[in-house]
Amino acid sequence: MDNRVRKVMIVGGGTAGWMAAAAMAKVLKNQYCDIQLVESDSIGTVGVGEATIPQIQLFNQMLGLDENEFIRRTQGTFKLGIQFVNWGHIGERYLHAFGEVGKDMEGVQFYHYWLKLFQAGEAPNIDAYTLNCQAVEQGRFMRPVDAGNSPLSRIAYAFHFDAARYAMFLRDYAMERGVRRREGKIERVSLRPDDGFIESITLDDGETLEADLFIDCSGFRGLLIEQALKTGYEKWSRWLPCDRAVAVPCAKVAEPVPYTRSTAHSAGWQWRIPLQHRTGNGHVYCSQFISDDEAADTLLKNLDGEPLADPKFIRFTTGKRLKFWNKNCVALGLASGFMEPLESTSIHLVQSGIAKLMSLFPNRNFDQEDIDEYNRQVDFEYTRIRDFLIAHYHVTQRDDSEFWNYCRTMDVPDTLKQKMNHYRKNGRIFRTNEELFNETSWLEVMHGQGLKAEGYHPIVDTLSKDEIARRLESIRNVINKSVEYMPMHSEFIAKHCAAP
Ligand code: FAD
Repeated sequence: MDNRVRKVMIVGGGTAGWMAAAAMAKVLKNQYCDIQLVESDSIGTVGVGEATIPQIQLFNQMLGLDENEFIRRTQGTFKLGIQFVNWGHIGERYLHAFGEVGKDMEGVQFYHYWLKLFQAGEAPNIDAYTLNCQAVEQGRFMRPVDAGNSPLSRIAYAFHFDAARYAMFLRDYAMERGVRRREGKIERVSLRPDDGFIESITLDDGETLEADLFIDCSGFRGLLIEQALKTGYEKWSRWLPCDRAVAVPCAKVAEPVPYTRSTAHSAGWQWRIPLQHRTGNGHVYCSQFISDDEAADTLLKNLDGEPLADPKFIRFTTGKRLKFWNKNCVALGLASGFMEPLESTSIHLVQSGIAKLMSLFPNRNFDQEDIDEYNRQVDFEYTRIRDFLIAHYHVTQRDDSEFWNYCRTMDVPDTLKQKMNHYRKNGRIFRTNEELFNETSWLEVMHGQGLKAEGYHPIVDTLSKDEIARRLESIRNVINKSVEYMPMHSEFIAKHCAAP
């Protein structure tokens, strides 16, 4: 008891800070230790980050949030996947859908059976066997229901939401459970002279606040992890060269669709995130190939509705801290590193960092083995997501701009080369350890971007072609029937979680 962490200081009140505060309030409870969060109204938050992946449901469940209330409070919508437009070729589109693809047979993954027929020109594209793809086509959505073997029992989904409202929602949650909020600008960070651990932060009004454990959620600046502790940063710009974004919300012109759209442009890509009250948009681009003005023009020309604010520019360097946990400081969110929101992974990385921190929660001795293990786990997760994102740029046939010529021909990490070669040669995809994206995600993206598998799993040949065709057709019918049963996304929201 004597050695336990008595005080946690969270620096920053963006999505990362309030997610950490809410989770710690829930898990540590007010009795275990004091939790304080400092944020600066004058600095504000990055204010973007509106699309998620299904794992966020676990975070909300852990907090015990009512999902309908959460959707209402954040003007949220549901997300079944991401539609990628113009990525492999201009004019092409594919969906990276959440959830299962087909149904595994005889102990072999479904997609190998599909590959055999597809390669022979005897099966339609993979999306015909994917519930989420067919639901997206028709704009339908529902949560999974208890329907036995039906794919309706296993619908996978995530959310789009207003980032500012989500932070406010979590702030109310955390403060109701005892987290103390302090508004003020941190002007100085003091280190202990003996071991260089963080001792205290000093605010602009002169008050000094001490703590045992500091959580750096201060955004790109990394106030504690970088500015104070000089941890160092590994840049990934040679593989993920986009370094800026311009974002603008616009008026909604139709009912929100249940997917994020990512449209590739000549030197980057544009996101479109439908919310209940507006649509979020942004253009992520590479400043080496396009100017800020051109990037903003492209964005504004490709909006559905009238812009609702001036375009906001954001600069970033893709990469990660050399250590995510250094001494008594753990960095979460933008302070820990940045990968562009192509697969909506940043909020997930915050959630995953919090979960890992909770499982390795320190006492005041700060066991170095625990710290090393945390860094190993987060590093692995970061680098595998990095590879997945690089695949989107690299596996393309686009040759219409210098940017795409660079991405198509660049040298990529060995871990990614192995993945692509394995798939190209015999259609195999392996998920290693705690890798975030599973086989079907890799399949949908590699195939969707135009990487063709030349082979398939040999065990597939134990079934005759006719038998495979019959089974595939039956799966397709089940999927089509299931989708017919689903209500429209807008009807589902209106019935369960429309914002007031
Ligand atoms: P911030 O929002 O920048 O918050 C930093 C906090 O630190 C603020 O409260 C600030 O006041 C405080 N602070 C800083 N300095 C001081 C100081 N000196 N004193 C006191 N307080 C201080 N993620 C997704 O999951 N999905 C997406 O679709 C997505 N889209 C994105 C698009 C773009 C262009 C960008 C840049 C990011 C996107 N992200 C997305 C990432 C997501 O926005 C962030 O992960 C998330 O918002 C967390 O940000 P944060 O809390 O780390 O930082």
